Amino acid sequence: MTVKEIQSNPARRIAILGAGESGSGAAVLAKKQGFDVFVSDLSEIKPQYREILEKNMIAYEYKKHTESLILNADEVIKSPGIPEKAPLIQKLKAQGTPVISEIEFAGRYTDAKKICITGSNGKTTTTMLTYHILKNAGLNVGLAGNVGNSFAMQVAENDYDCYVIELSSFQLDGMYDFKADIAVLLNITPDHLDRYDYDMQNYVNSKFRILQNQTENDAFIYWNDDPLIAQEIKKLKPKSTLYPFSDKKTDETKAYVENKKIIIKTYNDTFTMEEELVALTGRHNLYNSLASGIAAKLLDIKNDSIRQSLSDFRGVEHRLEKVARVRGVEYVNDSKATNVNSCWYALQSMKPPVVLILGGTDKGNDYGEIELFVKEKCRALIFLGIDNSKLHHFFDGKIGTIRDAASMKEAVDQAYEIGQMGDTVLLSPCCASFDLFQNYEDRGRQFKDCVRRL
Ligand code: ADP
Repeated sequence: MTVKEIQSNPARRIAILGAGESGSGAAVLAKKQGFDVFVSDLSEIKPQYREILEKNMIAYEYKKHTESLILNADEVIKSPGIPEKAPLIQKLKAQGTPVISEIEFAGRYTDAKKICITGSNGKTTTTMLTYHILKNAGLNVGLAGNVGNSFAMQVAENDYDCYVIELSSFQLDGMYDFKADIAVLLNITPDHLDRYDYDMQNYVNSKFRILQNQTENDAFIYWNDDPLIAQEIKKLKPKSTLYPFSDKKTDETKAYVENKKIIIKTYNDTFTMEEELVALTGRHNLYNSLASGIAAKLLDIKNDSIRQSLSDFRGVEHRLEKVARVRGVEYVNDSKATNVNSCWYALQSMKPPVVLILGGTDKGNDYGEIELFVKEKCRALIFLGIDNSKLHHFFDGKIGTIRDAASMKEAVDQAYEIGQMGDTVLLSPCCASFDLFQNYEDRGRQFKDCVRRL
């Protein structure tokens, strides 16, 4: 389609900003729904997404935003990666053009049940685990959001009865009329504050958008011991039916651990399972398993089937992933631990002594959160980053052995030299990876490659 043709047909026009997984999916769905669609990306568009746009005869541009072709849209779908503060978004908002997320858009075109999972940490694990349980039980279920194919593409091309959707706060920010039938909020700890004016309440508000439009017929599953969640629930008094979970039984908790058994109580049944049979280890993963278990019970999945799936789930790559045992030392890849809180849970679940590899691009970290575990459990720290000064400033003098590494190979070689029989070498960096790696997956894969070459 030429620019002239696009301009001559402004009716029901949708502009899509960002042509990644969510943008290209939204474009296909919008086209299928009869909109006049225009896709614009400030960067290159990956070949696989370009192919999708061309195959579907969708007009697009890259390495620029032609404002005249975007500001005339009736609605704009924005990739979660584009910040609200971007000048083009500000312009659109100022002129009153609705800017929504791909999830909001796709939600309009499906009646499927939506199980939506958010939180600062544990989203992917809980999403994959819930999907695993539902799929094994024979449900016609799609996996969407931050994992798998975009929700919009699946709504365009598949006919699922239900979806398990991982939602980041950035996606939630562009959601207004969407409703989760089952909403899961795992925890809220500081993250991405740069996108929220460094105001924690803005980030909390964003996470709580997961409850938007819920009624008493919808379920809200959340971690009962998270002080921020508790405070917000008191304030908001949600209409949803509440399913709080915890590792301790209280009057309010619907899922908890008692006498080494997981107990989940729903309106008409009680599910039990020996805690030691649950595949995922660590306290944080117990929470994730409880959240998934409640969601599964609410979908009437048989207890035996839930037990089977909770016990045979193999975990997700880069999340406390066991890589290998070399000369009696266990190597664990937790490259996805891009904030201090997830490293805290990793250390909490470790049997000492631990050689901890951490560092990278600091996001305003407070290492005080892990100080006790580091002192109690770590034999050594290896700082892996271009600038390790903040780590040195915090940890120097607090632990005997500290080394610096400028590449993954160097870090793994040093860990190999330091580690003794029975130790665990843990990559759980607390930081983003962009100083030395393409992303956390690249960092995790390099770790695994180096370990396998030892
Ligand atoms: P997300 O998708 O929210 O980033 P992941 O499932 O990818 O979460 O896990 C990210 C990191 O957080 C991993 O290091 C993992 O071990 C840790 N983690 C997983 N679940 C939790 C939880 N419930 N609470 C805290 N940390 C968690």
